[in-house]
Amino acid sequence: MKINEILKHSEKGFSFEFFPPKTEKGRVSLSNTVDLLKKYNPLYVSMTYGAGGGSQAQTKDAVSMLLDFKDLEVMPHLTCIGSCEKDIKQMLDGYKSQGIENVMALRGDPPMGQSNFNFSTKNYAHASDLVRTLKQYNHFCVGVAVYPEGHIESKSLDQDMDFTKKKVDAGADFAVTQMFFDNAYYYALLERMSKKAISLPVLPGILPLTDVEKVKQFAAICRTTIPSDITTKMEKFRHNPVEMEKIGVEYTIKQCRDLINNGVKKIHFFTLNKPEIITAIIDAIQ
Ligand code: FAD
Repeated sequence: MKINEILKHSEKGFSFEFFPPKTEKGRVSLSNTVDLLKKYNPLYVSMTYGAGGGSQAQTKDAVSMLLDFKDLEVMPHLTCIGSCEKDIKQMLDGYKSQGIENVMALRGDPPMGQSNFNFSTKNYAHASDLVRTLKQYNHFCVGVAVYPEGHIESKSLDQDMDFTKKKVDAGADFAVTQMFFDNAYYYALLERMSKKAISLPVLPGILPLTDVEKVKQFAAICRTTIPSDITTKMEKFRHNPVEMEKIGVEYTIKQCRDLINNGVKKIHFFTLNKPEIITAIIDAIQ
């Protein structure tokens, strides 16, 4: 079923994002993770593509693994940077023949160490180009990424919104946000979208705060603010990871409760393939 239909007909719920495992142990762990999280009857589950050095083949394998669960709506992520139309269409033809109806359309990032990467020489310079290819199929429901604090390459929030509108005008059906730790950025994003008459569903993307140093590194790359009160609290327990995780998870629970109290009924979790943390959060908020 198409995710935009699921979102329309579900009053509330959660979606879960996984990354493709690289080892047999990782495969077993992903399978156990999905098994555990299935009980929440997810709106959908998604699988990242190429992020953190993963390969296309790993994503395809992991997507097939999710499809084996039968009763889950599965959405592969797909990045288009550096790809030609033939490769993209081959991938999409494959997904279509597997019965997949939803794809998360992303530009992706230039290969490591290529800061002067020339986007304009490629078939696909922006995610909006991929959205257009997907919509030509007249088959896929398309998700796109949006950025509560603006994408790191955007010169301003206004410019960020103008380019977001291009993705939506190209046919995007729903959006998932970049991680954020201060809900004010999410509410402000919704307001900016509303001012531009962009009216698609926007799922808040929640990354549980566990290892503050790791999250800080990642947050710096993608322009995400971590409020200083929580980093200070967590950093005090740098040498006690269990306590640090406990404080972080409590913070994420508070963050989710605030979203719910402000009328947000559907939340997307970046699970990092760690089911216990997600379970602890969901059990506390529902
Ligand atoms: P775009 O929408 O193309 O935007 C990228 C930049 O280009 C922005 O600054 C935008 O403002 C600008 N821009 C857009 N259109 C134009 C235009 N017409 N002219 C000039 N500038 C323009 N990465 C992975 O590799 N694999 C994943 O699985 C993955 N999953 C993700 C899931 C989520 C929920 C999110 C938020 C991000 C994910 N990413 C993933 C990261 C993503 O690939 C990066 O953030 C990437 O830098 C931008 O991708 P995009 O699709 O937002 O690109």
